[in-house]
Amino acid sequence: MHVEGGCYCGAVRYRADGEPIMKAQCHCRECQYITGGSPNVFMIMPAAGFAITQGETKPFRRRDLANPVTREFCPNCGTHLLTRSPNLPDAVILKVGTMDDPSQFGGPQMAIFCIDKQSFHRIPEGIPAFERFPG
Ligand SMILES: [Zn+2]
Ligand SMILES: [Zn+2]
Repeated sequence: MHVEGGCYCGAVRYRADGEPIMKAQCHCRECQYITGGSPNVFMIMPAAGFAITQGETKPFRRRDLANPVTREFCPNCGTHLLTRSPNLPDAVILKVGTMDDPSQFGGPQMAIFCIDKQSFHRIPEGIPAFERFPG
């Protein structure tokens, strides 16, 4: 799969080549801040095929957590483009809404961190839902 995308203002652009490692929606409380309240829909792609092709992201990492993820934002418009996790060093977690063609995503394979799910969150029928990260 070849994916291109970028932020809301167009300053940051990326490409991602390779097979998706995981497609999911995350209901965790942290993602709710970033999405506006809904689950965070993401696609994990191999880091080897990923590159920022224009501009630069601004990374943010929480200092109060032992093993925090790094969330990368456009410094100009604030769009959250991707996350890097210390548990997935060879991958990038792309936010589907930043893809030029979000329909490439197809749909989530699972719902994760449903322990934080709100009553107004919807999980598509027929996919597994996990309390936390599976495995
Ligand atoms: Zn931007
Ligand atoms: Zn989350």
